Formats: sequence, structure tokens, C-alpha cells
Amino acid sequence: MSEEIKNKFTPKKFVKNPIKGTKCTLMISSAKGGVGKSTFAVNLAFALQNIGKKVGILDADIYGPSLPKILGLNEKPKNEGGKFLVPLEKFGVQCISIGFLVDENTPMIWRGPMVISAIKTLTQKVLWKDLDFLIIDMPPGTGDSQLTFAQEIKVDGAIIISTPQDLALADVKRGIQMFDKTGIKILGLVDNMSFFKGDDGKIYNIFGEGGVQKTANEFKKEFLGKIPLNNKLRESADQGQPLTHKDPKNEISLIFENIAKKINSSFNKD
Ligand code: ADP
Repeated sequence: MSEEIKNKFTPKKFVKNPIKGTKCTLMISSAKGGVGKSTFAVNLAFALQNIGKKVGILDADIYGPSLPKILGLNEKPKNEGGKFLVPLEKFGVQCISIGFLVDENTPMIWRGPMVISAIKTLTQKVLWKDLDFLIIDMPPGTGDSQLTFAQEIKVDGAIIISTPQDLALADVKRGIQMFDKTGIKILGLVDNMSFFKGDDGKIYNIFGEGGVQKTANEFKKEFLGKIPLNNKLRESADQGQPLTHKDPKNEISLIFENIAKKINSSFNKD
């Protein structure tokens, strides 16, 4: 068989490019939209900053970028030499989002190749500076952009966010399998909107109980923690000041701190 034909039939080997300027790249992923993935990503970023780490956030949610709103940012990033983007900085965290590059009201009706090229720009043409952790807020699901990341970008770990309903959990299982197949280490699962604590201290399990932890056990993944359904978390995100930054000693911020410490120690970065 000639070399040319041999090459045609050999499965394509993907080269995983590391993102420059960061020691560690973490993906925050969810199988469905609206489960609180972006809220988690941004609050985790500030929780890592609170324990002394240098952090950046890459909002890769091409179809629904939320970083501009959660951090109250609407400037255009500068470009250097016509080739590279300089991340914006908010409260000491470096940030980039597709939302900084397009008008807020422009619908994102891109097709596969355009999405992939946008992701390549966001991952290869941004000048991150001396980061310990780059947090990537992924688009929900297991489509083209997730696969591009999984196959072509060197990622050090993924965290999967879910809410406790059975409906959400079925998709989480698909997400776990995608990461396992593409060789990305799952650092753990997080149960968001896990419960509601009334003013009287009573706990209400609005979306069910224990499902995310059970899924973690079933797939032998770590369960990183439960985040309650809480108004302060939503309000602070709406006001452009994530809770872990605004009030680091709040009981919910401490849950994030605990998760940040677990993640940090899993990379022995002390
Ligand atoms: P996703 O990134 O998964 O689409 P978002 O982070 O944008 O989800 O969250 C969707 C909405 O739910 C936002 O309005 C956010 O403020 C709110 N939210 C997320 N997590 C919580 C929580 N634990 N408690 C209260 N509101 C939350």
C-alpha cells in the first residue's frame, strides 16, 4: 500500500495544543443550558483568586456568552500586532468572551466551521498573562465546539455542573462519557440549585435530592459539592459583582472556597 493510501486510512491523530500563559486549564461544562454553569465558573474563578491564585476566564459559550453581563464588562478587547487579543481585566481576573467581540443583540446563527474558528481564536490568540488557572465556561451539550476542545486543546480537567432533576442527569451521563472517551480528566461533579434554605433554616429539595451524587458514584467520579438555590447568588451575578468576590465570607462563598481548595490541591499547586 502506498504511503498516501496508508495515511488516508489511518485514524486522524489530533494534536492537543496547550493554551499559552496558564499553568492549568479547567473546563466548566454542563449537559444543558440554564443549570448555572456560568454562575459557577465565575464564582469559582474568584474563589480561586481568594485563595491566592492568578485566574483567567474564557467564556467559550459562543451561543450565549454571559461573562459580559456577570462581570458588567462591555469594552472591546485591544488587539496586539493585529493578531492577538489582550484580555480585559475585572477585579484582577483576566477575561475574554465572544460577547466582547460581537454586539449584544446580534443573534449567533453561526454554523459549525465558524464556531470552530471562533474557538480557535479564543484559545490560541489571546495573550493570557502568568495564570495559575484558566477557567473555560463551555457551551452546553456535546456538539462541535465541545469536540473541538476535547480533541485539539490540552485541557487539564473538567468539572460538570448539573441540577438534581432526573431529566438533567440523563444528559450528564452523556457528558461524562464524552470526556472519558476524549481522555479529559473529570475533576468532579457539582450539584447546583441543590436545595433551598428558608429563613427558618428549613431545607427544601425543590428539584429532587441526591441524584448528582449518585451519578458521581455510579461513574466513580468525585462529588465536589452542593450549591443552594439562593437569591444572593443570582442578584450579585445580575449586578456584575460575583458573590465570591463581593462577599467572600458568605456561607455560599465558603462552599465555593472549599471546591476551589479541592481543585487546587488536586493539582498540587501550593
Ligand atoms: P448556564 O450558564 O448553565 O446557562 P447561568 O449561570 O447563566 O446558567 O444561570 C442561569 C440563571 O440561573 C441565571 O439567572 C443565574 O443567576 C441563575 N442561577 C444560577 N445558579 C443559581 C443558584 N444556585 N441560585 C440562584 N440562581 C442561580
